Amino acid sequence: MAVFNLRAYDDHEQIVFCRDVESGLKAIICVHNTNLGPAVGGCRMWDYNSDEGALIDALRLSRGMTYKNAMAGLQMGGGKSVIIGNSKTMKSEELFRAFGRFVDKLSGKYITAEDVGITPQDMAIVHKETDHVLGLEGKSGDPSPVTAYGVFTGLKAAVHHRLGRDDLDGLKVSVQGLGHVGYYLCRHLHEQGAQLVVTDINQESVDRVVDEFGATAVDTDEIYHQEVDVYAPCALGATINDNTIPKIQASVIAGAANNQLAEDRHGQILMEKGILYAPDYVINAGGIINVSFEENYDQAAALKKVDEIYGTLSEVFEASKSSGRPTNVIADEIARQRVADAKQK
Ligand code: NAD
Repeated sequence: MAVFNLRAYDDHEQIVFCRDVESGLKAIICVHNTNLGPAVGGCRMWDYNSDEGALIDALRLSRGMTYKNAMAGLQMGGGKSVIIGNSKTMKSEELFRAFGRFVDKLSGKYITAEDVGITPQDMAIVHKETDHVLGLEGKSGDPSPVTAYGVFTGLKAAVHHRLGRDDLDGLKVSVQGLGHVGYYLCRHLHEQGAQLVVTDINQESVDRVVDEFGATAVDTDEIYHQEVDVYAPCALGATINDNTIPKIQASVIAGAANNQLAEDRHGQILMEKGILYAPDYVINAGGIINVSFEENYDQAAALKKVDEIYGTLSEVFEASKSSGRPTNVIADEIARQRVADAKQK
C-alpha cells in the first residue's frame, strides 16, 4: 500500500503504528497538522475489516479534526487515533494502558479523547499513563448539550441567511435522531416556538420528545419528505445522498451529525436546488469547543466561544453566495487558509 500517495494522506505530519503484543493492542495515531497547536482528536475503537480500512478512516477523521478545530477558532491542530478491535469483547486495562503509553511518547503533540466505542472509564485508564487526555469525567462534562447549543446557534444563522428571519416561532424543523444531541436541540427549538417533526429508531426517545415538546413523530424513512423549513440530521452520517436529496423539502440543512454529505459533490447539488447546507464540522463544533476549555473549566466562557459559530457560518454563507460555490467547499477553503496562516506566524 503506497501510503504517501493515498488521497486521504493529505500531508499528514506523522502517523504512529502502535503494537503491544501482551495486551493485543493494535492502534494507529494520526497527527494531521499542528500549525495551530497540538493535534486534538478522539480515539475510536472499531472492528475494522482491514488494516488499510483502519488507516484510511483514521487519516480522514484526523484531517477533519484539523478543519473542525481551525473553523472553531481554537488553538488546536488536528489528529485522531483508532484502536483496531471489537469494543465489546477486546477491552482491558492493559490495552488502554498500552495505548496511553504510545500517546505519552508523543509528548503532547497528540491529545486524545473519547470517540465511538470508547467510554469515559476507558479514558480514565489511558490517563493513568499520560496527561495528554481531554474529556475526562468530572471536568468539562458531557459535551452533547453544548454541541446541541452550537447547532441551535448555527441553525439560527442559516435561517437568517436563507429565510431572512430571526425568530423561530412556527418554524418547521425535522430532527432525525433524538439521542444526546438531538434531544437537547429539540428542547432549544421548542423553547423558541418551532414546530418539530421527529424520528428515531428508538421508540422511547421518540415518545419523550413527543411528550415533552409536542413533536410530531414520523417513520424513519419518512423524515426526508416532510414539508419543513429546516432538516436537522442528528443521527448518522451520509444521510444526504443521491437517494435522499430529491426527497428533501427543506430549504435549510443544519444538524449535528458528522459527515452528512455522502460525497463532496452533494454540496454542489444542494446549492443548485436552493438548499442552504451548514457544513457539519462547523455547526457541530460545540463539543470540541467545550472540551478545549477543560483546564479550569468555565462554562460561560465556553458558551461564548460556541456563540461564534453564528458568525463563522455567516461568513461561509456569504462567501458561498458571492462566489456561487457550495458551502462545504468554502468551509474547507477557509479552514485550509487558517491553517496556512498559522504556519506563517
Ligand atoms: P447518539 O448515539 O446519542 O444519538 C444518535 C441517535 O440517532 C440515537 O437516538 C439513535 O437511535 C438514532 N438513530 C440511529 N439511526 C437512526 C436512523 N436511521 N434514523 C433515525 N434515528 C437514528 O449520538 P449523539 O451524541 O446525539 O450524536 C449525534 C450525531 O452528532 C452523531 O453523528 C455524532 O457523531 C455527531 N456529533 C455528536 C457530538 C456530541 O457532542 N455528542 C459532537 C459532534 C458531532
